[in-house]
Amino acid sequence: MRTIHTSTKNQRISTQELLTSIREAVEQGECDFVIEAQGQHDIPGPLWNSQGKALHITVRNPGQRVGAMMLPGTNVLVEGSAPADVGWLNAGGTLIVKGDVGDTAGHCAASGTIYIGGRAGARSGSLMKHDPLYKAPELWILKHTGSFSFEFFSGGYAVVCGCDCEQGSVLGDRPCVGMVGGVVYVRGSVGDIPQDLALLPLDHNDQAFLNEGLDRFLRAVDEKHRAPLLKDWEVWHKIVPAPKQELVRPSVAQYRKASWIPGGLFADIVADSGIHAPILGTGLHRLRIPVWENESNTCLDCHKCALTCPRNAIERTQDTTLTYTADPATCIGCGLCQAVCPNHIWRLTDAPPLVEHLPGEKGRCVMDNR
Ligand code: SF4
Ligand code: SF4
Repeated sequence: MRTIHTSTKNQRISTQELLTSIREAVEQGECDFVIEAQGQHDIPGPLWNSQGKALHITVRNPGQRVGAMMLPGTNVLVEGSAPADVGWLNAGGTLIVKGDVGDTAGHCAASGTIYIGGRAGARSGSLMKHDPLYKAPELWILKHTGSFSFEFFSGGYAVVCGCDCEQGSVLGDRPCVGMVGGVVYVRGSVGDIPQDLALLPLDHNDQAFLNEGLDRFLRAVDEKHRAPLLKDWEVWHKIVPAPKQELVRPSVAQYRKASWIPGGLFADIVADSGIHAPILGTGLHRLRIPVWENESNTCLDCHKCALTCPRNAIERTQDTTLTYTADPATCIGCGLCQAVCPNHIWRLTDAPPLVEHLPGEKGRCVMDNR
């Protein structure tokens, strides 16, 4: 066994120097290490023994990304806690952290196993994936995770045991956003999960997986006494992508008629009553309405207005009273009567806004005599 101290003459060696010394020792046939680290990163890095022997590496006081990019046959044990990115891009090794870990534990792991004997920080398990040519990655966490965990989780297994977390979601807020594959097993309460995921009770296969795996996990993190509590399957659930509705593919013609443009290519883009106003709007469709106002009795009875009206809409009463009226059925609101009247008897008023005024018909006017 090789013990590596990471300081010489009170000088801390760099991450690069440490990783180089580990790799050189492996090339010389060393398989067992104890590394007394001082926050160096990426311990031990991607290693392999040319004779296929397993590597066992105990690390104390690691920096970020301990257990990153491990290859099959590499076994890393962290005696206490570890900062962020433990097991980052794990490609087949086994990492045991007996304490808590920082954010993004197991981030992008593609194979191998990660055991966390405490809590894991935010975004843990995000982007884990499974290439079917290799063994699926596993991430086991004894307590709970921070928020945004298992984002874009697409393959493998995550197990969150929820120990010492009797209140609140054991997955924090907004877990599993963008999850498209794999399984997240969770014991205890879970907050809201995206609608395209399903929170389901365990079936027999799930229970068999957890029953065997929990023994391995609890033994690794020295928590075997918790087994009876954790094997109450009633309080476990699994989160998986919800089954997709089978897609019924319509024909192109059906799609054009029902989905692309409802009613077909030449259908109305917006709802249309089907009533068309004439080019020269009369009656209800006029924009302006002439009103004969002779309160001051200044009408000259000259007939200019009636003679000028292009629609012959103006009539004079035939009795002794002097009154001119414009027939709404023929008047188009052009305003010539107002223009030619020498005494400004005619006044053009704006039509009211479009309103529903008759059943099934839209127009401009609410008054029957317009
Ligand atoms: S507004 Fe035009 S159409 Fe209407 S009564 Fe006057 S002149 Fe005739
Ligand atoms: S043009 Fe004017 S003054 Fe002449 S009849 Fe018409 S409203 Fe009366």
